[in-house]
Amino acid sequence: MPSRTLLAALAATVAAPALAGEVNVYSYRQPELIAPLVEGFEAASGHDVNIVYIDQGITERLVAEGRRSPADLVFTVDIARLTEAKEAGVTQAVESDAIAANVPEAMRDPEGHWAGVSVRARAVYASKERVADGEVTTYEDLADPKWRGRICTRPGTHDYNIALISAMIEHHGPDETRTWLEGLKANLAKAPEGNDRAQVKSIWAGECDISLGNTYYMGAMLGDPEQQPWADSVRLVFPTFGEDGGTHVNVSGVAMTQGAPNRDVALEFMEYLTSPEAQEIYAEVVNEYPVAPGAAPSELVAGWGDFTPDATNLVDIAAHRAEALKLVEEVDYDAGPAS
Ligand code: FE
Repeated sequence: MPSRTLLAALAATVAAPALAGEVNVYSYRQPELIAPLVEGFEAASGHDVNIVYIDQGITERLVAEGRRSPADLVFTVDIARLTEAKEAGVTQAVESDAIAANVPEAMRDPEGHWAGVSVRARAVYASKERVADGEVTTYEDLADPKWRGRICTRPGTHDYNIALISAMIEHHGPDETRTWLEGLKANLAKAPEGNDRAQVKSIWAGECDISLGNTYYMGAMLGDPEQQPWADSVRLVFPTFGEDGGTHVNVSGVAMTQGAPNRDVALEFMEYLTSPEAQEIYAEVVNEYPVAPGAAPSELVAGWGDFTPDATNLVDIAAHRAEALKLVEEVDYDAGPAS
C-alpha cells in the first residue's frame, strides 16, 4: 500500500493549486460527522483542514484568544450559537456569490456572518397506534385541550424549544404565544425532562401520544438497536404555523472568525461546504436536509415526507430568544402540568 505521504505527493502533483494552504475549524460537531467533507475538500483543493472539536464555549474561547486565535471558521448547530458568536463580535461578514446562490435567504445571516449548510425540522413524533393520520396539523393546535395529558417534550428552556417558541412569537406576538405555551404545558403528560429521544421512548412506553423532536433523531434512533423500537412506534409529522404556513426549522452552519488568519482558504472551504454536492454528502451523514435549491436529502430522510420550511429568516426568530426564555419561566413550563 502506498504511504500517505506518497499519496499526498501524487495528489499535489496532479491537483494542487499553486499555493497549498490550510484552514482551522472550531467545531461543535464531532469530527467524524464532517470527515467526508474535509476529505472531499482536501482532495479537490490540495489544502489541509484542521478540525478542533469543542463541545461547548466556542464563542468564549474565541473571545479569550482574541487576535491570537488560530481559528478561521466555526462550524456549529443551532441559530442560538450562530447569533451568539455574531453578537460577541468574533465573526466577520463574508461576501460570496456562491454562498448567496447555494443558501436560501432565510438560512443565512443578512449581513453575511454565517451561512446554513443543513437544516433540521422541529417536528412532531406521533404514536402510530394512538394518533390518526391528519390529527396533528399545526403547532398552534398542540395547545388544544384534545391533547390533554398526551404530549411529552424536553424542558422548555432548551435551545430547540426556545427557537420554536421564538418562532411562535414572530408569528403571533408574545401574548398569544404565552396563551399557547400555557395550553401546551397543560397538555403535557408529565414534567419535561430528558432529551428529544427520551420523549419518543415515553411514547413507545405508552406515557404520551405525541412529542416534539428534531427530525435527525429518527435516523439516530433507527441506527441504535436499543432505540429502534422507540422509532418504530412513531411516525414523523411536520406541523406548520397556521394551516398554510411552513414548518419550524433550524440550521447547522458555518461562520468565519473575525481574525481568520487563513481567510482565502477559509472562504474556499466555506463555499465548498455550501455547495450542493457537499451539502448532500453532509446531510446524508447527519440525517438532515441540504439547504441548496435542488439538493436532495438521503433516501431515508426523504422517506419521512415532504415539508415546506417556515420562510421567516432565522435571525428574526433568534431576536425573540430573550422574550421566549422569559415566557417559559413565567408560565413555569418546566414544572409540568398542574396535578
Ligand atoms: Fe440535537
